[in-house]
Amino acid sequence: MINAIRLKEEFLELVSIASLSRRERAVSRRLESILKGMGAGVEADDAGERIGGDTGNMLARFPGNTPGAPPLLLSAHMDTVGPAEAIHVVVDGDIIRTDHTSVLGGDDKTGIVAILEAIRVARERSIPHGDIEVVLTICEEFGLLGAKHFDTSRLRARRGLVLDVDGVCELVTRAPAANRVNVTLHGLAAHAGVCPEQGLDAVHMAAEAIAGMKLGRVDGETTANLGVIQGGLASNIVPDRVTIRGETRSLSLDKLERQTAHRRGRFEAAAARSVRIGDRVHQARADVQVERQYEPLQIGDQAVIVRLVREAARALGRICPTRATGGASDANIFAARGLEVANLACGMREIHTVNEWVDIRDVVLTAELVLETIRLNAAA
Ligand SMILES: [Zn+2]
Repeated sequence: MINAIRLKEEFLELVSIASLSRRERAVSRRLESILKGMGAGVEADDAGERIGGDTGNMLARFPGNTPGAPPLLLSAHMDTVGPAEAIHVVVDGDIIRTDHTSVLGGDDKTGIVAILEAIRVARERSIPHGDIEVVLTICEEFGLLGAKHFDTSRLRARRGLVLDVDGVCELVTRAPAANRVNVTLHGLAAHAGVCPEQGLDAVHMAAEAIAGMKLGRVDGETTANLGVIQGGLASNIVPDRVTIRGETRSLSLDKLERQTAHRRGRFEAAAARSVRIGDRVHQARADVQVERQYEPLQIGDQAVIVRLVREAARALGRICPTRATGGASDANIFAARGLEVANLACGMREIHTVNEWVDIRDVVLTAELVLETIRLNAAA
């Protein structure tokens, strides 16, 4: 029932509109006009102003046609990672990619067009449905900032789907929580040739701490990374300061806290040193800042939304397995606010690279899954 030609044309139009995080205004204007043309009431919020962007999150409401049918949330994000100042799209039949000078932005415009086309067909064919609430967020790729600033109390839906995963016909029901861990090691500067024993070497402390640290894939549920390290002033000065920015993620909150404590302990142990100069003792110090970036997504296979999607897949002669991922999405934010949401794969491939590509047939299948889920939700 999905109109593959219409979907493909809409996808090609939307990916050709650049929409880097905090600069989603052009694509949001276009989407607003598309959604209004489809009969939705559309509101933007002030999240853009609050996070330094040029437009807000968009909430579009489509009234249901079936009394008593429960409302459904469908969500995707409007922003993309870079490079994406200008997108030169290359079309090879159903395979869409770029000329490799930018990402395609199929992350997450595959999700957007799958939602739009499913709703269009549901309304054209008078398929039974409750109210449909479409949330198109800004700034997902930058710390899920749009969703974090979206007021979920505006939603009537208690369950729904985020469409924002690579692959097709898979449902992500588990995604990690994350802690940002930023560390500053404070030592003491001294002349490296004349009196190095009067210094406290912050680079050496960092090296000691990191050498014994669990990093990378810590276990089946947990990852840890140190992404940025900076410090020192000159080769002839004992370095008195090193900053390290990193993160740790886990599907298990318990493991997340253990890994975070492990990292803190390594830095604090390495900084447990001092030097006496005259009658004064200088103590090194590790300043460890931990901030929870987002809570985990954890939804059981018996949840209504999961059952609906798997039933929808069966109706199409497919199987839609559930799985975990190591990446977060707006679904983490909606779930933490009490909504029953899962994240449906929508056909994007090799995302966050200039090799990104999409097979339109995967997006069509995704739209069919969404349409069938809309229909099944009406009777749920
Ligand atoms: Zn995405």
